[in-house]
Amino acid sequence: MPVIGVLALQGDVREHAAALAAAGADARPIRRPHELDAVDGLVIPGGESTTISKLVDIFELREPIDKRIAAGMPVYGSCAGMIMLATEVLDGRPDQRGFDGITMTVRRNAFGRQVDSFEAPVEVSGVEGEPFHAVFIRAPWVERVGDGVEVLGRVTEGPAAGRIVAVRQGNLLATSFHPELTGDRRLHRYFVDLVRAAG
Ligand code: GLN
Repeated sequence: MPVIGVLALQGDVREHAAALAAAGADARPIRRPHELDAVDGLVIPGGESTTISKLVDIFELREPIDKRIAAGMPVYGSCAGMIMLATEVLDGRPDQRGFDGITMTVRRNAFGRQVDSFEAPVEVSGVEGEPFHAVFIRAPWVERVGDGVEVLGRVTEGPAAGRIVAVRQGNLLATSFHPELTGDRRLHRYFVDLVRAAG
């Protein structure tokens, strides 16, 4: 069974751990650098990217995570986790920093300040079945992707139609929405399969 860590500094850690367990992984919270040694993959949960960025430095996790990413460890980031995986952030705080992750530009809180959260159907390529019932909570979207980044999903309805909300670059996966909150385990299974294939 693949061992998958959930970065447990802030955010919806428990929901991701439960989704990973349901998808066939041994899920473990990660707070200390040495805990990373035992994992085959990592999830960065939704929460607040500025806070997560600060805590990553306080807990001395930045360098070890960057090193594992460079060595090919699969990582899945949802919402704030997507922001942490982006090489460029618009509307971020000047001091927030992500990992050396996916070559993309994301815009924080992109769906509009007045709209705190909304739901929309999103099809994710590579995941069979109905579109995801995607839940967005003060979510980012992806404005630009670089070479080697595969766009997996876009919003299909409403004023944000066409916006990129799911991407993959090699072993790195990111979504603007929160599949961990809806009981739909297909995306976590997709990630567990990715971790198995990388191992
Ligand atoms: N707006 C948050 C941020 O900037 C992300 C929100 C979320 O993860 N639900 O990090």
